[in-house]
Amino acid sequence: MNDALLERNYPNLIAGLWVRGRDRIENRNPADTRDVVGYFASASATDMAAACDAASRAFSGWAATPAPARGACLFRAADILEGRFETVAAEMTREEGKTLAEARGEVRRSINIFRYFGGEGARLPGLLAPSERDRVFSFAMRKPLGVVGLITPWNFPSAIPAWKLAPVLVSGNTVVLKPASAAPLSSWRLVEALVEAGAPAGVVNFVAGPGGELGRAMVEAPAMRAVSFTGSCATGALLYAQATARKLRVQLEMGGKNPTVVLADADVDAAVENTINGAFASTGQKCTATSRVIVEAGVYDRFVERLVARVRGLVVGNGMDPTTDVGPAIDAQQLDIVLRYIELGQTEGATLACGGRHLVEGPYQHGHFVEPAVFLNVTERMAVAQEEIFGPVLSVMRAADFDDAVRLANAVAFGLSASIQTRDVSRIFDFVNRIEAGLVTVNLPSAGVEYQLPFGGTKDSSFGPKEQGPHALDFYTDWKTVYLKY
Ligand code: NDP
Repeated sequence: MNDALLERNYPNLIAGLWVRGRDRIENRNPADTRDVVGYFASASATDMAAACDAASRAFSGWAATPAPARGACLFRAADILEGRFETVAAEMTREEGKTLAEARGEVRRSINIFRYFGGEGARLPGLLAPSERDRVFSFAMRKPLGVVGLITPWNFPSAIPAWKLAPVLVSGNTVVLKPASAAPLSSWRLVEALVEAGAPAGVVNFVAGPGGELGRAMVEAPAMRAVSFTGSCATGALLYAQATARKLRVQLEMGGKNPTVVLADADVDAAVENTINGAFASTGQKCTATSRVIVEAGVYDRFVERLVARVRGLVVGNGMDPTTDVGPAIDAQQLDIVLRYIELGQTEGATLACGGRHLVEGPYQHGHFVEPAVFLNVTERMAVAQEEIFGPVLSVMRAADFDDAVRLANAVAFGLSASIQTRDVSRIFDFVNRIEAGLVTVNLPSAGVEYQLPFGGTKDSSFGPKEQGPHALDFYTDWKTVYLKY
């Protein structure tokens, strides 16, 4: 759309038309709340129903479009985003707060995801198997489901919608996207690119607005076939109950309490850097962030001394400033959650080794800033060892040995990602086999996944088939099996 025409007013997209909402959402910069990034149309349940109807009407045409042509639409959208790369990255920093380097990385990832799934248009792998019967030819092919609903969070406002939209569309489904109210612009840019790339009216619909009302309307829409959600466990549980009551297909990606295990033989400097990256990049607002570091006794003192010294040196600030390491919390509510956990950890008996102050003066006065915090002497039952905080807070735990470290790492309800820092190949494989997590990293931060391989967790972190990689298609397609006598 023409930016001058928009004047920072971002409409919803329903049935190929850009439409105003019942109300509007103010999208403000969490580093400086005086800065309004944009005003988004806030839709009602009626708008959501209209979007689902539009997607339903568009389905047969899109499903009949050859899959390579659907893929070509993703390729064109990727090129359009490429042309706006710097603008879209800077907007992301303004609306979400992550550093510009992190935002650039995320936009790059969205482009790569569109291209990766664009290529699936020429594959959409089916199955061919010999029949037991004479002159019978048997095969199975993937068919789209119909209308798919997507509900996404604010912390990866481009990559998460991208890794859902791309497999949805290349499979031949039509879609209604409901972005997080706290950061809708990055996903709006994806939808804008898809429209400019030629996605026909109704194939992609964008409906921003209050999660509770729109989520329910999405699930209740008669044409809805499947809902893919990323966000908190509480919302995921609610959505699961609503969606399964209607026998909708449902996929949930939720929280984590991800451990980084540091063994005594690790390269300590590298382990410290990986832990810091895992814990504090994107202000710790990643589902794959390291929130517990479990350190073997033999290296504990050395590791902790270096870790705390490094964390004290991290620069907190506006993500547009190239010297910033840690940006703001997304909003006042998230900041409040983080500050409450910092207080709770101390009440529980953990030692606050550094950080944890709410920053309110000078350059911080108009943002939601908190100093990155490290807790020592954290024990297994404390809330700071068990509950997701989703902010720059790291709990350090001491393990007697490798077995104790694995036991501690697994002693939570979540199972998203886990990391080990060691040079011992046997320990690496023991860890890979025994850790209860969907993603494992070795001598790397716990966060930092790629789009070519499955993404998702186990235990309370996830429900349903994995996202990303070739098997992302499994959630968005049905098999149709054919036996043909000739
Ligand atoms: P929420 O669950 O609050 O929101 C996620 C999305 O759900 C938003 O679009 C929100 O809309 C919508 N929503 C809110 N209430 C409902 C409802 N009743 N029915 C349907 N949809 C609803 O999570 P956050 O956005 O606050 O994200 C933070 C959480 O997400 C953290 O716990 C984090 O661990 C998790 N997360 C998990 C990831 C993963 O891949 N496993 C990735 C990223 C985050 P609105 O914004 O309008 O409220």
